[in-house]
Amino acid sequence: MSSYEDASRYFHQAAGIMGLSKNMQKLLLTPEREMKVQIALERDNGEISTFIGYRIQHNSARGPMKGGLRFHHEVDEDEVLGLATLMTWKTAVVNIPYGGAKGGISVNVKELTQGEKDRLTRKFVDVIHDMVGPDKDIPAPDMGTNAQVMAWFMNQYSKFHGFNPACVTGKPVELHGSEGREEATGRGVVTLTERLLNKARREITETTFAIQGFGNVGSHAARRLAELGGKVVAVSDVSGGIWNPEGLDIPKLLDYASETGSISNFPGTDAIDNDGLLTADVDVLIPAALGGVITSDNAAEIRAKYIIEAANAPVTPEADEIFAHKNVIVLPDILANAGGVTVSYFEWVQNRQHFKWDVNRVRDELHRIMSDSFDKVWQIAEEKDISLRLAAYLLGIGRVGRATVLGGI
Ligand code: NAD
Repeated sequence: MSSYEDASRYFHQAAGIMGLSKNMQKLLLTPEREMKVQIALERDNGEISTFIGYRIQHNSARGPMKGGLRFHHEVDEDEVLGLATLMTWKTAVVNIPYGGAKGGISVNVKELTQGEKDRLTRKFVDVIHDMVGPDKDIPAPDMGTNAQVMAWFMNQYSKFHGFNPACVTGKPVELHGSEGREEATGRGVVTLTERLLNKARREITETTFAIQGFGNVGSHAARRLAELGGKVVAVSDVSGGIWNPEGLDIPKLLDYASETGSISNFPGTDAIDNDGLLTADVDVLIPAALGGVITSDNAAEIRAKYIIEAANAPVTPEADEIFAHKNVIVLPDILANAGGVTVSYFEWVQNRQHFKWDVNRVRDELHRIMSDSFDKVWQIAEEKDISLRLAAYLLGIGRVGRATVLGGI
């Protein structure tokens, strides 16, 4: 099933509960604008390569559209559309004044030199700059892009439109970026996890965790869990996984991973593979790497009672149904990983006010937004006796629908 079909399936389930008319469903699902552009790049060796870039602007009813920019060889129209749609509901769930968009270039970044990546970014900006900007559509880093790519993006955009740091977020802190942006998604994941465990009258200190992925999201989630006294017993990355039932020493593991580039062979641990990590005997499983890793093939073997979707769409709709029958609670991506876009919003606010916040203010505001959003989703789930995922969709779609009607169709 395609990314867009997966994203639409939850939408239709929620729309059914809400009693949305077919015409309203079509209006809310149809993207406002889809751009597909050719980018010709002169390589360092003088050869010409041609890439396809996408920017899909799904919905702007609640404000300028917001979403990441991916450089990855698997980027295609369907994936970008599915992720743009998710962004519309995600920004609405956390009630920040944005719509949803997503973009990407279908390219294997590992084959590009730094100079080629710089020129590729600038050529993409050259063709889309009139359709994006601080009041239209604000890209951010995603797979294969980072703060440096955002700095190039901002610089190229300024050549057409003047000084405009709010045209992208996730910039380097030294160049109009925000304190606390890098840790935001992982930190938000932990705030929500703590809240969820509290509902079950559990403490983080008495809970075991397994985390798939030790990149930006996974490593910051692990760091925060360890700070709060949680026992992280298993983590993995693309090279495999490690396990210690007594709990991993996360500060030491963070140093080890930054020195060696991987978590493999961390002293005092046993090796496990990625399948073993997903089915490990833990209370909470945090998939923080890829989409589609928990499917109908492995869902029945998963032993965790709580799954926190730190990655986008790690649980397929078929696996989601299996969890519903097993009473496994899934905290859905459109809430679970919304800490990143929330602090991106803070960056945009700071850029527009030309006033920098310190990290404590960023963390406090993030904590408030994550906690309020969790409580609202939990309340809807209880009142309607539905899953947290459907409750989050109801909240997000309801807010976008109301804004659409209030603005006038
Ligand atoms: P990242 O590139 O920093 O890290 C990805 C991690 O996953 C790495 O440790 C990598 O080794 C690991 N990995 C890759 N393939 C794997 C495999 N087959 N098995 C196990 N591990 C594997 O990416 P990130 O920024 O941490 O993002 C992770 C996920 O979270 C993505 O789905 C992304 O879309 C989502 N997300 C990220 C943010 C953010 O702010 N970074 C915000 C929202 C959602």
